[in-house]
Amino acid sequence: MAEVLDVAVVGGGPTGLWLACELALAGVRVEVFERRAEAVRESRALTLHPRSLEVLALRGLEKRFLERGRPLPTGHFAMLDTRLDFSVLDTRFPYTLFLPQAVTEALLEARATELGVAVRRGHTVEALRQDGEGVDLEGSTDAGPFRIRARFVVGADGARSAVRRLAGIPFPGTDVTRTAMLGDVTLGAPPAQPAVGIANERGGVMVVPMAPGVHRIVVNDPLREKAPVREPVTLEELRESTLRIAGTDFGMREPRWLSRFGNETRLAERYREGRVLLAGDAAHMHFPAGGQGLNVGLQDAMNLGWKLAAVVKDGAPEALLDSYSRERRPVGEALIHNTLAQTALMGATQETLALRAMMSDLLREPRLNRQLANNIGALDVGYAPLDVPAPEVTLLPEWSGRRLSDAELPMREGADMRLYAALHPGRWLLLDLGEGDSRPLPRWEPGWSSQVTTLRARGPTGRRDLEGVGGMLVRPDGHVGWAWAA
Ligand SMILES: Cc1cc2nc3c(=O)[nH]c(=O)nc-3n(C[C@H](O)[C@H](O)[C@H](O)COP(=O)(O)OP(=O)(O)OC[C@H]3O[C@@H](n4cnc5c(N)ncnc54)[C@H](O)[C@@H]3O)c2cc1C
Repeated sequence: MAEVLDVAVVGGGPTGLWLACELALAGVRVEVFERRAEAVRESRALTLHPRSLEVLALRGLEKRFLERGRPLPTGHFAMLDTRLDFSVLDTRFPYTLFLPQAVTEALLEARATELGVAVRRGHTVEALRQDGEGVDLEGSTDAGPFRIRARFVVGADGARSAVRRLAGIPFPGTDVTRTAMLGDVTLGAPPAQPAVGIANERGGVMVVPMAPGVHRIVVNDPLREKAPVREPVTLEELRESTLRIAGTDFGMREPRWLSRFGNETRLAERYREGRVLLAGDAAHMHFPAGGQGLNVGLQDAMNLGWKLAAVVKDGAPEALLDSYSRERRPVGEALIHNTLAQTALMGATQETLALRAMMSDLLREPRLNRQLANNIGALDVGYAPLDVPAPEVTLLPEWSGRRLSDAELPMREGADMRLYAALHPGRWLLLDLGEGDSRPLPRWEPGWSSQVTTLRARGPTGRRDLEGVGGMLVRPDGHVGWAWAA
């Protein structure tokens, strides 16, 4: 009998690769099964948002991504004239990082390989059967069929997920009713600003930078929105629509990639079925508005990784996996909600244009702008307290599940230290923030997590939000488990 893997990840897109990294970091035996024989060259996504950059920073990887991308201090909602100001957000990464998905995937795969993960390309999963102890997967390669067994399987195999279908998880939602098109092109006359959105009674055009000498043009043309998703886009079609809507074709030429995409919208009924879990596009599908899908996929993987590792390696109860669904499905639901709202705002009727103007005005109000920027940047995600034994202290309930931003903290011993650096190993962090003499730290023995890093900061930390907090147990994904009073 062949070796039984701890976890088989199906799909080597950004979600599957990051999940594999997280599992391997925790010492889990994990392999990725990816249908494509070669890495993708074209890039659907172009953006990494603040929370995704924090996720990478939680493992000490942010520099690799920042070096290759281009930061822009704004984001957008439905291409409205008033852009979202990311520069005011409470994060070390107050911007959108423009980075093509192909580069993101290459960097994630490099990290996975460094951690010893086998990414098995050219492996298409076609059958799945689970029992009380594990899951059998079968599929095909050019060289013939393959078969493996794993204790758990994660379907990170995209919107048309075979794993989701084979596990019998319904994917309710709505079919495509309109499509838009994109082209990655060279522009002879690029716009002066780095990111431009034009919306009028003829349609909408967005132009954003992609790579040196390459821009992406996205076009919502009411005259072409009934074209089927599968109908190829030509440069002439893109040029004609852009010219009609924007009054210029920006001198577009040399298309690298032309594609059509639609507004099919769906959410998996559940993210777990026994020993099978879903993450990323396999769990949620929507119109790609606001540049969020890849980001939410990475964040799904960050939430699932440490929990699955705790179950597989440390004997945590399988119920911990239900908290993954409980925490991340509402995020998927909110994602669908905001992309539907953006799609509604992307029409070209008189009513829609009036609504756009009104929304644009409202977004000039800093508080509203910040609220939406936090939402698109995924900094506003918080969770209910975990359903596992809490430490034996008086807790500050308002802290449970909150995202913790990074900070340089003065230490009781040694030099100042970045909070996120203490989370690089992917373990729980027991953070002592108490002032004065060292006091005993609360006991926390949930019976499964032997892996806790202890950090003794020297108060006061200088962070207003930490005033009155004596310490906290931080989850490996950078959310607070529990905090207690000073
Ligand atoms: C036009 C467009 C623009 C977008 N722009 C952005 C953006 O700016 N920002 C953003 O965050 N998101 C954006 N997105 C969304 C983003 O591309 C996706 O959300 C992201 O790729 C999801 O990652 P994933 O790993 O979950 O799935 P995928 O990237 O779809 O990866 C799934 C992988 O599984 C493999 N696979 C499928 N079936 C099988 C099988 N049976 N066996 C083995 N392997 C299999 C596939 O080959 C693929 O590699 C955009 C999407 C589109 C269409």
